[in-house]
Amino acid sequence: MRRRHHPWIYSQAIAYVDESAPAGSILPVRAADGSVIGWGQHSPESLIAVRMVSYSAEKPEEDWIEQRIKAAWSLRTGLGLDTDSYRIVNAEGDFLPGLVIDLYADTAVVCPHTRGVEAGLERIVDSLRGMRSDLHVFIRRDEHFARVEKLSTASGYARGEGEGSTVIREGGVRLRVDFAHGQKTGFYLDQRANRTLISRCSRDKTVLNLFSYTGAVALRAAAAGARKVISVDSSRSALDLAEASVSLSPGLKSDAFEWVQADVFTFLESPPRCDVLVADPPPFARRRVEREGALKGYLSLFQQCLRILSPGGLAFLFSCSGAVDRATFQQVVAEAALRSGRAARLLGELHADLDHPVAASHPEGEYLKGWMVHVQ
Ligand code: SAH
Repeated sequence: MRRRHHPWIYSQAIAYVDESAPAGSILPVRAADGSVIGWGQHSPESLIAVRMVSYSAEKPEEDWIEQRIKAAWSLRTGLGLDTDSYRIVNAEGDFLPGLVIDLYADTAVVCPHTRGVEAGLERIVDSLRGMRSDLHVFIRRDEHFARVEKLSTASGYARGEGEGSTVIREGGVRLRVDFAHGQKTGFYLDQRANRTLISRCSRDKTVLNLFSYTGAVALRAAAAGARKVISVDSSRSALDLAEASVSLSPGLKSDAFEWVQADVFTFLESPPRCDVLVADPPPFARRRVEREGALKGYLSLFQQCLRILSPGGLAFLFSCSGAVDRATFQQVVAEAALRSGRAARLLGELHADLDHPVAASHPEGEYLKGWMVHVQ
């Protein structure tokens, strides 16, 4: 049988660990017969005890991290993305497990998720500066990963300095990104292609933008000629940042926007009519045990969304739940469409933009799923 070369090894699958090796170091991984099947980074505190960095008997070259970052960055610059901001490194998707690096205009935000990445952090920062010498580099540590791997939670600049935020360009608009305090690394780069598609369908339309975060969808839709964009989010700071971004693009008029701080589920009890609806909720299920509840949540939310669309309307429905696979998500969207009582058609399947590659050996890397739905 062909080996799948999955990048993770769970702690229960390991018979013996060389405890003398420092956490995060690169170790040979041996089969039961003692032969080396590859090399991986050890995370003694985590259920995912080893992240494989190669499936070859030879030790990876000294500069494997630098080589992979360079290759990852070079891939992005060849994609012709209409922006100055993109994901430079997408962890397992770039054969750099546990490492996420997002470029926001002049600043690279580095997010270490594992002991192995923490151990190589100086090299990672140096290699980024080697490729672009004026780059600011900000280390953003995530509480979730810090807990799992018992890492520090401290964030801050490793090179350069600044306010912890910057202004990026995407399509025709400018957006402020707060990478020191915002969610994840500060911004959802993965939705870029979907924002482009949504904006293309928004000319002269009333757009309802549920779970709007810092308004990227709203600004892109308005720039493309939407009549009105109503954005709903529970986070005051996200909405404040969105409003502040409107004044950064001269073409945008503040009266095209309505910003509502509310719980989406309460807001939907008396919803406005809309021609285009976007629902991009936070993950309902990060783990498998939360899956059933998450599916019910999507079913109910999407049914309501499809009901309130005006005739001929378009819905863009998303899930970023890792524990909900693509096939199941499609079933939920179809079921919501049937239960909504509207004659609905599934127009197009949506996914993360091209700067978020998924390794063939790591299908779990694909978390963002969406459907574009038309109602009669
Ligand atoms: N579409 C956005 C990203 C959405 S992230 C973009 O392209 O940038 C999910 C957002 O949902 C977060 O901003 C979070 O504050 C918000 N949120 C989570 N639960 C919510 C709820 N019950 N009601 C309203 N907003 C919620």
